Amino acid sequence: MVRGTHLDAVIVGAGFAGLYQLLCLRDRLGLKAQVLEAGGDLGGTWYWNRYPGARCDSESHAYRYFFSRELAEEWESTERYPGPAEIRAYLDHVARKFDLRRDIRFNNRVVSAQFDEAAKHWRIETESGERCTATWLVTAVGCLSSANVPTIPGLDAFKGRWYHTGQWPHEGVDFRGKRVGQIGTGSTGIQAAPVIAETAAHLTIFQRTANYSVPARNAPLAPEFQRWTREHFEQIREIAQSTVNGHAFRIEERNVADVTPAERQAIYEAAWEKGGLQFRATFKDLLTDRAANATAAEFLKARIRATVKDPATAEALADIDHPYSAKRPPIDTDYFETFNRPNVTLVNLRKDPIERITLQGICTRTQEHPLDIIVFATGFDALTGPLLRMDIRGRGARSLREDWKAGPETYLGLQVPGYPNFFTITGPGSPSVLTNMPVAIEQHVEWITDCIAHARRNGVQTVEPLADAAREWGERVQEAARATLLYDAKHSWYFGANVPGKPQVFMPYAGGMHRYRKICEGIAAQGYQGFVMARA
Ligand SMILES: Cc1cc2nc3c(=O)[nH]c(=O)nc-3n(C[C@H](O)[C@H](O)[C@H](O)COP(=O)(O)OP(=O)(O)OC[C@H]3O[C@@H](n4cnc5c(N)ncnc54)[C@H](O)[C@@H]3O)c2cc1C
Repeated sequence: MVRGTHLDAVIVGAGFAGLYQLLCLRDRLGLKAQVLEAGGDLGGTWYWNRYPGARCDSESHAYRYFFSRELAEEWESTERYPGPAEIRAYLDHVARKFDLRRDIRFNNRVVSAQFDEAAKHWRIETESGERCTATWLVTAVGCLSSANVPTIPGLDAFKGRWYHTGQWPHEGVDFRGKRVGQIGTGSTGIQAAPVIAETAAHLTIFQRTANYSVPARNAPLAPEFQRWTREHFEQIREIAQSTVNGHAFRIEERNVADVTPAERQAIYEAAWEKGGLQFRATFKDLLTDRAANATAAEFLKARIRATVKDPATAEALADIDHPYSAKRPPIDTDYFETFNRPNVTLVNLRKDPIERITLQGICTRTQEHPLDIIVFATGFDALTGPLLRMDIRGRGARSLREDWKAGPETYLGLQVPGYPNFFTITGPGSPSVLTNMPVAIEQHVEWITDCIAHARRNGVQTVEPLADAAREWGERVQEAARATLLYDAKHSWYFGANVPGKPQVFMPYAGGMHRYRKICEGIAAQGYQGFVMARA
């Protein structure tokens, strides 16, 4: 970044969101735009998350951009679920095709952004002290990019090595002959454990919250399927852009009560065999009706008990305290089978909590577990974390950290009152993490691009939402969550419950991507209702 440069737009982050936003603002609107990225290369999530077993849970024919048929024809996914290297290669291909790298500055972490009311632009500063100004500031910082390392006393003095899965060393970690402790059994922990166990001398898995998981059944893609996805690009896009969660499969129209118990069992068996997130699409009321959900929960718990040989371990793994899919639903490759290995032990933290980390390992209430390596699969300060790590200041130098003390307040997850010309791609209050994210990202990027184009066409200098519009939207976000069982899992990261001191507010919009898209389109069609478009 050149000190003192003025740009039309600064985009923060070079993952799926930042790359497409750059393409749209630079090539479609002709703006002078630049991406500032903290990491050393593009990829976002897939640049940082290179832990053993890391893999996308969305299927490869849906986890991609849909804005270009040509791009879809050029790119061949090799597996049902792409891993980090393949996703990075895909994004690199996109960057080359559209010549994006020339406007991306890597190793540039934005630390502050302040709106200058007189000049009507943003003053942006990076960690190394470089500065620039921009009329439009678009954050593409991701929902899951702020690693959450729990504050356990003693970690600083631990003699072994420790790693967070979301900041995994690029050269990899050698577990051979090592005693490894893994804290966390969410989507990431469930992916990592089977792979770590293959080489570690011993793996101790520390579980606070037991979790459901459905087999992913990853496999190389058959050439016929690859051809089918190319030939059916428009149909796949149509499904992904019209479903509740942006995946390329529809949720069945039936309710659990519409079928007999025997039919239900057969449906669950078939979905289990097929594997993947489609399990939750078997019935339309799984996420809204407790009794319906309980049938899926019981099926999955029975699978755990049937797989895990040691009855006490099986019980601890099946002792799940939330409805199926109320927390992010993992999919796995041999997760529960891993507990049958002689070199794997489960520690149930509900019964035997961690007290401290010692020089040699982890001490729970009843014993010390000697370890060489600790792996934190403890997730992220989700949705608000990446935004609040920056010091963002709007009108009158008001601070986003202060304004969001009681929880995030946005209009559509796109803008914040008091912060003109500031857009958040997949911000809190949008469907974001409840979707197959590239689909949500494309919708946001295109909406933001259209909004900026509209402003420029009409001589508008600042765009920001009305406080009332944001307040009302916040109420709709809570209402939408309350209508689902997502609201039952109060300890989920959707509520911010995994980060001590974080306000406990349900953050993503749970009303469905299809509904959200229509709302955004309607608002734009009515002249950007709820937004103030100021000409002076
Ligand atoms: C392990 C894991 C598995 C996932 N699996 C799926 C899945 O199966 N399906 C799915 O849809 N989604 C999945 N996700 C969510 C995933 O984050 C999104 O799919 C997608 O990658 C988001 O793209 P993005 O560009 O919005 O954000 P990111 O990919 O998170 O990129 C944000 C970028 O912003 C940069 N950044 C942040 N703050 C700053 C700053 N202050 N200054 C400069 N740069 C900054 C970061 O370094 C990062 O590179 C997964 C996430 C994780 C962590």
